[in-house]
Amino acid sequence: MRLADYLAPDSLDEAVALLGASTSSRALAGGHSLLLEPNRSRMTDAVLVDLRRISGLADIEVRRGGVQIGAMTTLAAIANDKMIQDRYSALAEAAGAAGDAQVRNRATIGGNLADANPGADLPAALLALGAELEVRHPSGTRTQTADGLWVGPFENSLRQSEVITVVSLPPQPAQSGSAYEKISHPATLYAICGVAASVTLAPDGTIRACRCAVTGAATIPTTLAAVGQAAAGLTPDAETLATVAEQADRNLTFEGDRFASAEYRRNLTTVLTERALTRAVERATTNAGG
Ligand SMILES: Cc1cc2nc3c(=O)[nH]c(=O)nc-3n(C[C@H](O)[C@H](O)[C@H](O)COP(=O)(O)OP(=O)(O)OC[C@H]3O[C@@H](n4cnc5c(N)ncnc54)[C@H](O)[C@@H]3O)c2cc1C
Repeated sequence: MRLADYLAPDSLDEAVALLGASTSSRALAGGHSLLLEPNRSRMTDAVLVDLRRISGLADIEVRRGGVQIGAMTTLAAIANDKMIQDRYSALAEAAGAAGDAQVRNRATIGGNLADANPGADLPAALLALGAELEVRHPSGTRTQTADGLWVGPFENSLRQSEVITVVSLPPQPAQSGSAYEKISHPATLYAICGVAASVTLAPDGTIRACRCAVTGAATIPTTLAAVGQAAAGLTPDAETLATVAEQADRNLTFEGDRFASAEYRRNLTTVLTERALTRAVERATTNAGG
């Protein structure tokens, strides 16, 4: 990596202005992807704009029944947060399954999303939980759904001067539960395949709402829309969940590489969807809400 400059602004306004001033500028969060990728062309003569001195970007706050997580919150802080463990279990599990302790202590949720690594863990959980992102730009703030963020491997839809500031998760109704299941690459620890499931039950025990998403299996994290549609209205016994999980490979183009074939990832997607759904339903059954 050739570093042209390192800047550490105190305010978001300043950071956004610095990022917009040069196409070589890059936001620096935990640095656990950015600083370890010297061969990426985007790192040539980079101007690093460090976000760490900007206050208020690493808070976890309950707002209007949902939660707002600052973009600079580390994966360790998310994995260890009791409220996230209880109400947004899939996110706590995904953050806890990412990398090792050293990585989790530095890597941030904003960096994990913006990096757009196709095997990153948090995107699947955030898709399943219906996350929205707050994005700061030179003339204000906009809201962006998580599923519009990734456009290809290591490519996001943010403009040069934009910074993710907050990840918002909606309130979880009573009788909701979620879970994340992953098969890791043994060396890099990224997901060869990871599936998150989020389920809300109706008072009669049938599935009122269901959303699943996969990471690692395709070029970008993807919502498994067919699974959610197939699950709605059904009684979630083991046989039904296995049948519903068979919809997981619908409309998805699986990627093969030297670590795992496309067919293996297709199979994993179905297996992990069944496991994630089963645990999400278990949690929903015992969760009175709040
Ligand atoms: C050994 C190792 C193992 C890992 N294993 C896993 C794993 O199993 N699962 C997993 O999910 N991840 C894994 N990671 C990746 C880790 O989670 C990354 O650090 C993370 O994905 C990037 O977060 P960061 O805060 O370090 O971002 P940085 O490296 O600082 O930045 C990454 C990219 O995001 C941009 N960016 C950062 N913050 C923002 C923001 N707020 N707004 C806009 N753009 C921003 C940067 O400009 C850069 O392009 C691993 C990393 C390592 C080194």
